Amino acid sequence: RREEMQKRYEDENERGGLMPMLREVSRQEYLRKREDKKIQELEDELEDAKYLFQGVQLSQRELDDLRYKEEVLRLAKEKQRLMNAATEDGYKMPDSYDEPTKYATRYDVAKLRYSEPEGAAARANPHAEQEAWEAEQLKKTHVTRVGAQDGGAAAPQYDFVFEDTMDFVKADMLAGNIEDLFETPEERKKKEAEARAIAAKSERERIQEGRRQLPVHPYRDALLEAVEAHQILIIVAETGAGKTTQVPQYLHEAGYSAAGKIGCTQPRRVAAMSVAARVAHEMGVKLGNEVGYSIRFEDCTSDKTILKYMTDGMLLREFLSEPDLASYSVMMIDEAHERTLHTDVLFGLVKDIARFRPDLKLLISSATLDAEKFSEYFDYAPIFKVPGRRYPVDIYFTKAPEADYIDASVQAVMRIHVLEPEGDVLVFLTGQEEIEAVEELLRQRMRGKGTQLAEMIICPIYANLPSELQAKIFEPTPPGARKVVLATNIAETSLTIDGIKYVVDPGFAKQNSYNPRTGMESLVVTPVSKASANQRAGRAGRTSAGKCFRLYTAHSFENEMEDNTVPEIQRTNLGNVVLMLKSLGIHDLMNFDFMDPPPAETLLRALEQLYALGALNDKGELTKLGRRMAEFPLDPMLAKTLIASETYKVSEQIATVCAMVSVGSSIFYRPKDKAVFADNAHKNFSRGGVGDHIALMSVYDGWAESNFSTQWCFENYVQVRSMKRARDIRDQLVGLMERVEIEMVGDSSEHDSIRKAIASGFFYHTARLQKDGSYRTIKNPQSVHLHPSSSLLQLLPRWVVYHELVLTSKEFMRTVSEIKPEWLVEIAPHYYNKKDIM
Ligand code: ADP
Ligand code: MG
Repeated sequence: RREEMQKRYEDENERGGLMPMLREVSRQEYLRKREDKKIQELEDELEDAKYLFQGVQLSQRELDDLRYKEEVLRLAKEKQRLMNAATEDGYKMPDSYDEPTKYATRYDVAKLRYSEPEGAAARANPHAEQEAWEAEQLKKTHVTRVGAQDGGAAAPQYDFVFEDTMDFVKADMLAGNIEDLFETPEERKKKEAEARAIAAKSERERIQEGRRQLPVHPYRDALLEAVEAHQILIIVAETGAGKTTQVPQYLHEAGYSAAGKIGCTQPRRVAAMSVAARVAHEMGVKLGNEVGYSIRFEDCTSDKTILKYMTDGMLLREFLSEPDLASYSVMMIDEAHERTLHTDVLFGLVKDIARFRPDLKLLISSATLDAEKFSEYFDYAPIFKVPGRRYPVDIYFTKAPEADYIDASVQAVMRIHVLEPEGDVLVFLTGQEEIEAVEELLRQRMRGKGTQLAEMIICPIYANLPSELQAKIFEPTPPGARKVVLATNIAETSLTIDGIKYVVDPGFAKQNSYNPRTGMESLVVTPVSKASANQRAGRAGRTSAGKCFRLYTAHSFENEMEDNTVPEIQRTNLGNVVLMLKSLGIHDLMNFDFMDPPPAETLLRALEQLYALGALNDKGELTKLGRRMAEFPLDPMLAKTLIASETYKVSEQIATVCAMVSVGSSIFYRPKDKAVFADNAHKNFSRGGVGDHIALMSVYDGWAESNFSTQWCFENYVQVRSMKRARDIRDQLVGLMERVEIEMVGDSSEHDSIRKAIASGFFYHTARLQKDGSYRTIKNPQSVHLHPSSSLLQLLPRWVVYHELVLTSKEFMRTVSEIKPEWLVEIAPHYYNKKDIM
């Protein structure tokens, strides 16, 4: 039986394996599309130019340029007309001209215009004859139409051409552990009958039925016994087994919630919100009552809350007010394998309190099998393994490296949509910007293909997405349609989406990287580890056999990717965590019980920075200022800025600036077809030219003046969602500022005071203009550049302060303001002296 199944699997695989290329289907079609695209681009460009140059006296060069473009457009349209005519009455190669772009310069166009066209064209296109012949041959060949290969009756018919074909090679198979991958007809009938029976039941019964079918369910009682018997337990089960949603419920059902709350940490905000919503639904209660969540800047719990999901960072903050976690009877540190900075610090803290709170149950749960390390760290705590289910996943690598993984992702999704049998797709991208870009590109590609292709439902998921939209990824896909989920790393292990059969993995994630020597920290798009890549692939095999398309070569996988992701604690700035630990009274950080200690240099650097900010005294003890700074769930530099706003009497303005920078880079938006309008609107905010911080403040003030109007956001090309989030954050910050007794005052025209307050927190992040237009950081000199989005790009001020560095093609400073060098000596005399600013 086994052999037979293997054979069937292989056959199936061959049938569903890589499809023949469709390139040959229709070359004319391809050429025509390319032409259409070119025309569209030219028209857009000219349209923009007209708007831009309205009422402006143009130089001869600019006039030439415009005329050139008009000419190119005219020729392209002519070509398009001929091509259309050709397809109507048999293809004939237009012979009166060639592709206009082949004329290298506008002078050539001019020459063409003023000489006899035929002659010029013939000279310019020596291949015309050959092309005509090819076209003729192509016309003769039979045009094949390719349908979905599983032979489904509803298989769509289409002509589709991949503009740049990617070649994939099948390499590995991620072995599954399901024996009966292919059910016998009786088995299938039985399953279908079960499904029908479930569908007939009430919503409530259906939910309970679903819970019973999760892999952890058969182990419920054994698990409860193990928790009863041991104070600390490591739980290991595949993603989707039910660790996060079920285990806390089991504990509640077993009565643990009578003695205190059941807490469960998540490394990611979205996961905390989403699983809490799911569990509330399963328990039939309102989110925020018995089941709630707590994430930075948002607390959705109440006095009734017994199951509390929270980010690991929030639990860390809870230690400040409740150092023994007295209100909890159980704490589950979930997704331990992610090894985020906060989770790692929590390990040390919970291990410590478990010693003097024998009644507290501690669960450490992980999706990967290398749990021995956790067990060892927690004094050899027992490991409870839930056997997982996974179907096999075929893994494909690209034959050659892909230059642009965004483009490649879009192509891969389209390819799956066109060629592969039904099943949803999950694409791993690095962040909101990429997700939005891919979403837009996919929509463009799908436009006008409604009749040729099945419907594509595109569902993005990332941290800032409003929760109504987040829920969309879990909605079942209607028959005949295909869901394409565009997700960040969150879908690697934190969230399980049923029905995913195809994974597209470009192989990147955003990671912190920190150089303690220079104190430079940046967010970098980094290749993921092999372990991550395999987790990602595994997402395709949850409900049936799947496929994973990796947009990199097998060679890169073998030679360029690390085996495991480096724990965050070893590659990030520890300022925040050190401040927190110091506030908890933990002084000897060098001997803190870290599972993997951070580099000593990083720790020292963090201490030094906190000392420079005034949060620690020269004995390394927390100062009064440090204690106030620790109240804010922010980076110490931002916390210091908020507190300094008191001195400069601009607390209202700084609260706004800090809220806006905390939202991230998603304030402005710039639709391609309206780029000129958007740029103009955005320019308005940076009038005065002192920098991006003030510009962000003007955006917020403008919105507030419009009474927080959505219309205002549309008119100004500002993302209303981000603005709402900024308002929430601002409200919270103002609450915290009042708690540390900062008086809310200020005047938005006090630009110098505002910038001085910013420099008080960010004097580490300063740079000075170089002769070549780049910048150099002032201490620990490093070459950095203004981010292309900065309003200072054209102004190039001599001295600047920046919010953060992002490393893409270069080290870019993002959110930058001009400062006066003498401020630095005034604000941070212990850090800068006159020599530094000469
Ligand atoms: P684990 O933590 O072991 O990875 P989870 O408890 O997160 O597993 O998930 C168990 C199941 O619950 C998954 O199969 C998933 O389909 C379902 N689930 C989780 N969250 C949601 C949600 N928000 N909506 C619908 N289903 C969900
Ligand atoms: Mg989970």
